[in-house]
Amino acid sequence: MQSVNPFSNKLIAEYTDHSDSEVSKVISAVYGAWEQWKNTDLTFRARLMNCLSEKLIEQKEELAVLMSNEMGKLKREAIGEIEKCAWVCRYYAENSGDFLAPLSIPTEASESFVSFQPLGPVLAVMPWNFPFWQVFRFAAPNLMAGNAGLLKHASNVPGCALAIEKLFVDSGFPENVFRTLLITGKQVADVIKNPLIKAVTLTGSTPAGKSVASIAGSVLKKSVLELGGSDPYIICEDADIRNAAKLCVFSRLLNAGQSCIGAKCFIVFDPVYEAFKDEFVRLMEDAVMGDPAEPSTTLAPLARFDLRDELHRQVVKSCEMGATLLCGGYIPEGGSAFYPPTVMENVVPGMPAYHEELFGPVAVLFRVKTIDEALKIANDTVFGLGAGIFTSDREKAKIWAENGLDAGCVFVNDFVKSDPRLPFGGIKESGFGRELSLFGIREFVNIKTIVVK
Ligand code: NAP
Repeated sequence: MQSVNPFSNKLIAEYTDHSDSEVSKVISAVYGAWEQWKNTDLTFRARLMNCLSEKLIEQKEELAVLMSNEMGKLKREAIGEIEKCAWVCRYYAENSGDFLAPLSIPTEASESFVSFQPLGPVLAVMPWNFPFWQVFRFAAPNLMAGNAGLLKHASNVPGCALAIEKLFVDSGFPENVFRTLLITGKQVADVIKNPLIKAVTLTGSTPAGKSVASIAGSVLKKSVLELGGSDPYIICEDADIRNAAKLCVFSRLLNAGQSCIGAKCFIVFDPVYEAFKDEFVRLMEDAVMGDPAEPSTTLAPLARFDLRDELHRQVVKSCEMGATLLCGGYIPEGGSAFYPPTVMENVVPGMPAYHEELFGPVAVLFRVKTIDEALKIANDTVFGLGAGIFTSDREKAKIWAENGLDAGCVFVNDFVKSDPRLPFGGIKESGFGRELSLFGIREFVNIKTIVVK
């Protein structure tokens, strides 16, 4: 396993993968640790989780540099990511007592209630795009719920994976309650099938999700999947167009466009189409590609060269099929994995830019005349993760958000963000299950009914 800096194209470090027998030993150790951990009380777990939160804040500069070097993220975005991890740890330290408190339900019996019991070691297969945040939003609720965690991180961020494991140890968590496995995607099947592993969650692409869910299904283990998105935004004619363009560009370029909930396609009402387009393209073209550590840089390189080449293929193919390029659409000179801000219009069904997730700074504009037409385009996708509406009519927007858009979350007059307090997840090929909030902590627990006559 290697980490390669996508800005300098230099090898950072090489790591030896865990062999199958090492993997078995780690799983047994994690299971052993879980047998103790499940009996600890919530106050003790919360104390350690708060300590982890403090460690993250203490080390945010070094951790941000590590993350930025391994996958290219802007340093200031990386610092924000570490701070958000600290928040999710604090959030679950403070709220797990309420979320996991027994729930009394009156029946004819003298007592009936629901108790939330841990399941055991849970495997988390994670992506490189938010190498800390994705892991912590799994780990904080699960460890608070009394589960143990086993991380299989993306192969291009092994340094982050090992740093996260160390953070748990340094914060005083018992040995082996959270472990990292340095393994390939091919070794995941055997981990899921190991009888000591009780459930699995994957954040990543739809093909990886289908593979993991089918293996988990074959051994009847619960899975949660957080997969890709098409993230349509509807811009109505009564919207504040400058503000809409500003927030849409911000969301599209965040993390170099490599976010499952990054705004990706923009469905604009005819009377404001040209005004939105001009402002949107202008702001996209203003982005400054450069060293992720420099405060003046606003667009980071993509995380890997192969990902950049695949994005370019989607753009080129769509243009060959008739899409119009408004800016970008080329591979810049130099040795970094940059892709320029790119905007396309005249995108129609059949083109990659219509159907496939565009995981980079590439946007698609659609022109529509009615809300029905807008909702039809927004929902004409296999994905259903995030969506947005810009309008000054909040009441109408709420109706379209609730009943019109097929998505796991809809933000009105803002871009979609994850937040520890709100459930996060998708429908259709964006996956199933929820992370964060009350809903996230209750995914991997035994919801046990107890009736006393
Ligand atoms: P990916 O290729 O699916 O990889 C994600 C993880 O799955 C990596 O650890 C990868 O390991 C592993 N993996 C890949 N194929 C596998 C298989 N067949 N069996 C078991 N494990 C497998 O995705 P990515 O390119 O890293 O991440 C980008 C995708 O993640 C995008 O589609 C994005 O939208 C999605 N995403 C979704 C969310 C969400 O919350 N919904 C959040 C972030 C990202 P290797 O690295 O070793 O291949």
